[in-house]
This record gives sequence, structure tokens and C-alpha cells, in this order.
Amino acid sequence: MTEGAGGSGFSPGKGEILIEGARHRGKTVDVYIDGEGKIAALGKEAGRGSGRDARIRIDGRGMVLAHGLVNTHTHAAMTLMRGYADDMPLKDWLATKIWPLEAHLTGEDVYRGTKLACLEMIRTGTLAFNDMYFFMEEAARAVSEMGLRATLAYGFIDLGDEEKREKEIRATERFVSVVKGLANPRIRAAVGPHAVYTVSPEGLRWCAGFSREKGIGIHIHLAETGQEVRDCEKQHGKRPVAHLDACGCLTERTVAAHCCWLDRPECSLLAARGASASHNPTSNMKLAVNRAMPYPWMKEAGVNVSLGTDGCASNNSLDMFGAMKDAALLQKFAWNDQTVLPAPEVLHMATEAGARALGIHAGRIEVGVPADLLLIPLARPQMTPLFSEESNLVYSAGGSLVDTAICDGRVLMFHGVVPGEEEILAQAAESAAALVQRSVA
Ligand SMILES: [Zn+2]
Repeated sequence: MTEGAGGSGFSPGKGEILIEGARHRGKTVDVYIDGEGKIAALGKEAGRGSGRDARIRIDGRGMVLAHGLVNTHTHAAMTLMRGYADDMPLKDWLATKIWPLEAHLTGEDVYRGTKLACLEMIRTGTLAFNDMYFFMEEAARAVSEMGLRATLAYGFIDLGDEEKREKEIRATERFVSVVKGLANPRIRAAVGPHAVYTVSPEGLRWCAGFSREKGIGIHIHLAETGQEVRDCEKQHGKRPVAHLDACGCLTERTVAAHCCWLDRPECSLLAARGASASHNPTSNMKLAVNRAMPYPWMKEAGVNVSLGTDGCASNNSLDMFGAMKDAALLQKFAWNDQTVLPAPEVLHMATEAGARALGIHAGRIEVGVPADLLLIPLARPQMTPLFSEESNLVYSAGGSLVDTAICDGRVLMFHGVVPGEEEILAQAAESAAALVQRSVA
């Protein structure tokens, strides 16, 4: 950055930005971002001497230019539970630690927790995410203030109870209309049926119909554990994918998180319906779900496979660089094959496939698309030597290396500074402590 709004480097609104001399795919490029937040020129002609006016100029020399990462499965406000309880059997962990905390969550907690999540995402290069949780109006408020993109879903859970279903239907309708009212192009609503074991077939059918009517996404957990598959077969006479399909939930707008226990025909059915998967390797390993998402079968079937972190209780970070490395390693280990999921494919999962899963016109650095960009310094041990940008980004960088983040033409972080960081950290820590106090009182 040489000059900017008040010299601070931050652009409160959209404005022309010129990044000069950054490295991208082995070449030195300039990027000109127009007042609409789109990449208007890329390459040498975009830079100095081109006669273009830029409100903000950023010196990109010594930096790799990368696309912002897309996290397609998380529960952002669970940042408040980071490190509260780990290394426990899944059932005990949920019943004695997580659910009691969630029972005491307030809207203000979700607002503060989501702000903390957004701060961590910006710092680690994630500029769009797919979220499912509660008090989602407050999550929307946090995202709107932080400036990144999000698709937000209210977690719909009816447990087969008709009265509860009616409540969830009203909560979903209300939230979708709130998001519409925000008219913020960076924030979208989705329908969030939690999973086949927490939502009745009637609830799933309603979610499918409502998503079709509104033209919005469906965000669901799918085949995370073997138990889920066995229970679904027992209860509904079908494996989870066939069951979801029968309820109309497999669409081109669907993002199914986990997909660990899919068999081959299920991968084909996901592909045939155009549904996307979200691979969550870190969470799956931490919760020991005992099976890696069958990436080779998914790839063979042609499923759009994206990448996610899951919530902070089961990860415990939102760093997509960590998720990229874990995905590559988990797949190689699970299939006993070093060639499975090479670095360029992982990067594709974390960018283009994620954008496609969320229906965002982004994911590639090219003229005409929204500028969701990162600058990562080269003069760091993790980036030296630089035989391959893709290899270093996936295997050695880590999210903390991200120096500058631009989303939709706005600078969200400049040289490691995100405005308001101290207050966000203090408020989140305060909320987390008070939440634990309330839950044990
Ligand atoms: Zn989840």
C-alpha cells in the first residue's frame, strides 16, 4: 500500500484498487479492481502508466496473489466453544459439554462468536463461508459488519415432532425474509435441515419445497458416521442419500457436509443431482468418524467436492489452509496412495468448487469476476524456496501467513491489520466465559 483512504489502507466502501507487481502462477501481474469490486484488468496493462485511477494502490511486490478461500461448512459462533472440551467420546462430549452450552446461547453470544469467526477467517484467508446455526439474524449482523461473504442457514431440527416442526418452519421463513430485507449482495440465506437423524421426512420435504420456491440453497450434514447410515436404513429403509433424494433435498443448490460413509452408488446419485459435497477432514479425524470421505469415488462420479472446517468445537480452528493440508493428507493415508488429491486439486476444492457449491460467481482470478483476493508474502521460510506456488500454499503456508485480504473490492485486512480486532477478541472472550458460567450454574 502506498496510499489509501486516509493513508490507513482500508476502504470503507468500494473503490478502485490497484495491486502492482504481485506474483501469480509464475508471472508478475498487476490487478485493477473497479468501483464495483470486480477485477477489471489483470496483467501488465492493468498497472502503472495505464492511466487508470485507483483510490487505493497496493504494492504487491514480493507477494503471491491468491484467490480467497471458501469454507463450505461451518457453525461460526461455535468459536466461543474453542478448546472448552476436547478428546472425549462423541456422545459424552455432546451431551455433557456442547449441548448444555448451546442451551444457554443468546443472540448476543452468536453475534460476538460470529464476529470472532469472521476475524479468524479474514486473518487466515477465507472470504466466503457456508454457515448453519441459531440466532442467525445476529450472525448476519456480524457478517455484514465484517465485510466477507456468507450463506447463512438456520439449523432446522424437528426430531419428528409436529409442533417443533411448525416452529422451525416459521423460524426458517422469518430468517429468510430478514436476509432478503438486508439486501446485502454478500449475504445469502439457505435452508438448513440439520441431518436425516434430526429432521423428519416431512421436515425434509418442507425444506426442499421452500428452497425451490425461494431459489435458495440447502445446507445439510450427510453420512458423517456409520451409525447415521445404519439408523437411516432401519428407520426409513434407505441409505441417507436415497432418503434425501426421496424427500427432494438433493439439488444443484445443495451442499452436503461430511459425506464420509457414502458408497459408490451414493456418489453417483449426488453427481446426477448436481449436489455439492463439503469435505471436512479435520473435524472427521478429531471426532474419529472412522472413514474418510471417498474422494476418488466422488471424483470419478463427477461430484463437485468443496472443502470446509466444520465448527470450532470439532476442529478447533477455521483456518482453511489447515483444512487443505489435512484433506490432502487424509485422502492419501486413507487410500494408501500418495497420488490421491494433489495440491492443485485441493486448491480447486477450496476456491472454485466452493464458489460453485454456494452459487457465487467467483473462485477464479480473472477479468469480470468479483475481487476476492489474498496477498501472501514470499519472504517467509514457509514460502522458500518457491518451486510451486500451489505446493507451498497447500503444504507449508498456513493461514497465519496471509498479509492482505480483499473481498468484493473492499480491503478487509491490510498488512495483518483488521480494524476493531481488540474489541472483537475481548467481547468474544467475555461472552464465552459468561456462557460457561450460565451453563454450570
Ligand atoms: Zn457441522
